[in-house]
Amino acid sequence: IAEPEEKPGILGRLLGKVEDSTAPRRVLDDDMLEQLEELLISADMGVDTAMRVTANMAEGRFGKKLSVNEIKGLLADEVTRVMDPVAKPLPLYPKTPQVVLVVGVNGSGKTTTIGKLASQFRAAGKNVVIAAGDTFRAAAVEQLQVWGDRAGVPVLTAPEGSDPASLAFDAMTKAETDGADLLLIDTAGRLQNRADLMEELAKIVRVIRKKDETAPHNTLLVLDATTGQNAINQVEIFQKLANVSGLVMTKLDGTAKGGVLVALADKFGLPIHAIGVGEQIDDLDAFDPEDFAKALTG
Ligand code: GDP
Repeated sequence: IAEPEEKPGILGRLLGKVEDSTAPRRVLDDDMLEQLEELLISADMGVDTAMRVTANMAEGRFGKKLSVNEIKGLLADEVTRVMDPVAKPLPLYPKTPQVVLVVGVNGSGKTTTIGKLASQFRAAGKNVVIAAGDTFRAAAVEQLQVWGDRAGVPVLTAPEGSDPASLAFDAMTKAETDGADLLLIDTAGRLQNRADLMEELAKIVRVIRKKDETAPHNTLLVLDATTGQNAINQVEIFQKLANVSGLVMTKLDGTAKGGVLVALADKFGLPIHAIGVGEQIDDLDAFDPEDFAKALTG
């Protein structure tokens, strides 16, 4: 039985069939750079970032003849260079309970990511509490409870429609009395009424600061990588709504749009703490710039 063919990355699509050792070398000229740029844009890197990446890659090499593998390697190096500074695990502060506020639009993968994070921290021996702060969506609360059970972590809930800030306060109390290391707080993701959401998030922050003025220690924005350039808008919006400290990019499995991560790194420089690579509890990985760059350009 033949091995399934690996999905070619962007360069695979441009240079594809000439990838053997007899492949002609390509001149790195304007035409070639333009094609590379277009491919990067089609992978959702955005025009500015795609231009910068190709220009940096061509510096000192313009007009040279390069092999396909050399071109791939140079482009991957360039992408790695942009991504290296943002690849950072979730920072753990000595203060406990460490509070992680999780924000993002509905459907981005917040609930799933909280479940995965809870499971990972549990496995690392941490005592974790989850607060189901999206009190508006009964389904989200139920879903979070399922994830909490899977991860073996208690989930604090409140009746539908009740004040998420008061739930957050109760969760802080529970986390403190339980001696929890980590409190993960889910939040609503309704962008339809931004003023309301902003007030809701601000109130959660105000209330948890009554317990610990250094909280929240992280505000994680969960972004769906398959939404492409939309992710850029979401960062801009949530930076206004909350004090975003880092990103989790979900659904990086099965998307050819991963280029948006490069655009995000280039534009905002926010740390990428983890990536979602599937729907199962273990499908949350540290972000590895080199692997990512190779997959993107391969
Ligand atoms: P929320 O509304 O932001 O809480 O989003 P959910 O956590 O409910 O996720 C929305 C959908 O995306 C669900 O069907 C999840 O299984 C799916 N999902 C979340 N993260 C990933 C991921 O990394 N990869 C894939 N393939 N699906 C994901």
